[in-house]
Amino acid sequence: MLFGLQPVVAVVTSMLLAPVVVSFAPTVRRPLPLTCASATKSNENDEVVPNVRRDVLHLSTSAATIISSLVASSPKPAFAGGNSKSRTVGYEVQHTEAEWSSLLSPTQYFILRQGGTESPYSSILESEERQGIYTCAGCGTSLFDATQKFHSGTGWPSFANIVNDNVEREDVSRIQYQLAGAEVRCKTCGGHLGDVFADGFLFPGTPAIVTGKRYCIDGAALAFVPKDGRGEIDIVMGDTPPPKGARSPMFPG
Ligand SMILES: [Zn+2]
Repeated sequence: MLFGLQPVVAVVTSMLLAPVVVSFAPTVRRPLPLTCASATKSNENDEVVPNVRRDVLHLSTSAATIISSLVASSPKPAFAGGNSKSRTVGYEVQHTEAEWSSLLSPTQYFILRQGGTESPYSSILESEERQGIYTCAGCGTSLFDATQKFHSGTGWPSFANIVNDNVEREDVSRIQYQLAGAEVRCKTCGGHLGDVFADGFLFPGTPAIVTGKRYCIDGAALAFVPKDGRGEIDIVMGDTPPPKGARSPMFPG
């Protein structure tokens, strides 16, 4: 079965057999802040996880346990910044950092402006199932359509494609993209959204199998506008935590 779980299981197996050489490429490429305690109003008790989170797949309970323990034991780099491009210069919507700080919630600011990463299953949007549009929490640009959303098992909202050309991909080499993915930003305001990986083939039965891509997005960077909603009053902000008890047992918060 070409698109079955065997490739992933093989990866996990190799990780177990050779723990010394385990290397989640995004960790190398894009380190993350040590803590988001000061920047996460909605999940202030969370601990920031390193960017290896992008590659966490819930293959099975045991595999997920093993991988999550690797995530937890991985070093926590001090700052997100593999992509050195300015988040301001050249973007249509610009604010000073002081303005962004006042416009956004601490969690949104941490993700969008500082390139932070939320904890898995910390956003209510991970489990959102309705039709609608996911917009940038920073500027309101439409970024993802719900028809492209799928459950990757990583704990972060995942999408197979973007709306129009509204998401900007980090300029990395083809090889680096294939191996380690690339940062994605809102093309309008430069806000950090997450990463895109070329491993959509690992998700049979989802839109990702068609595009070959997995946009792994921080829910706090988004706002969801339900298709059948009543306008602004029904918009769901992604920095809202999920209902109590809705988190994955693999990543209790
Ligand atoms: Zn934006």
